[in-house]
Amino acid sequence: MFILTRSELRAHRRAQRMIVELERSREALLRKAAELSRSNAELEQFAYIASHDLQEPLRMISSYCELIERRYGERLDDAGRRFLGFARDGAVRMRSLINDLLAYSRISGEVERRPCSSQEACRQAIDNLRVAIDDAGAAVTVDRLPEVIADPGQLMQIFQNLLGNALKYRGDRRPEIRVSGRRDGESVEFAVVDNGIGIGSEHFERIFGVFQRLHGENDFSGTGIGLAVCRKLVERSGGRIWVESQVGIGSTFRFTLPAAGGPITREGGLGEA
Ligand code: ADP
Repeated sequence: MFILTRSELRAHRRAQRMIVELERSREALLRKAAELSRSNAELEQFAYIASHDLQEPLRMISSYCELIERRYGERLDDAGRRFLGFARDGAVRMRSLINDLLAYSRISGEVERRPCSSQEACRQAIDNLRVAIDDAGAAVTVDRLPEVIADPGQLMQIFQNLLGNALKYRGDRRPEIRVSGRRDGESVEFAVVDNGIGIGSEHFERIFGVFQRLHGENDFSGTGIGLAVCRKLVERSGGRIWVESQVGIGSTFRFTLPAAGGPITREGGLGEA
């Protein structure tokens, strides 16, 4: 049998108290995490129902706008026709907002994670954007990209949104876009670099929010959901996404995903888009 000295006994009791405290904090944390995921699920459910239910009244507005135009268009003066045009444009815009909100809230449930080729995902994204790339006369370069653990369709979507933005927010110069990926320990860090209009540092965080845009619809089309979708997809796959940019110089969107395979592999060399 051990005989403890008084100071050892005190240390022993202190340790016991700390263990009880730690156990309590762990339980509180678990409770908070459960609450958070419940309220997140409720929020997603709300966004889904709200956007779904909004579709019907919107259809009504659109069809009555059309009816007025068809039946009474001739009798309206210029101002009347212009006002009707505004109402119709508003309805079209609202439809894209609702559709995008629906698409955003549909990203839920379990993520299918498996080793997948980021090279292939990026190639598909580029194929989907071929017309926009040609229209912009853009040069798109893709380095050799390491494999990651992700859902291939979602990875393609991330590349497509980022590349689509790099094409859309181009400046006066010919767009030059480069995609690279570097293994860093357990994860891969990707970068999509453009030489477009750039973003002020005060907006670096805001642009990843739902419907957050820095431009009016007349300057650049869009609803402001693309980067929010990227953030949701990346974070659900266990990664992070952020931007570094300088106005007038260009932007670099970076995101990480868990790396596939064993130990660190060498960095990729240059490839072709
Ligand atoms: P959208 O393009 O529909 O507005 P996003 O969520 O994709 O929505 O982007 C949000 C905002 O971030 C854009 O409105 C734009 O102001 C800014 N942005 C995104 N990508 C770029 C980029 N590559 N260069 C400059 N600005 C960008």
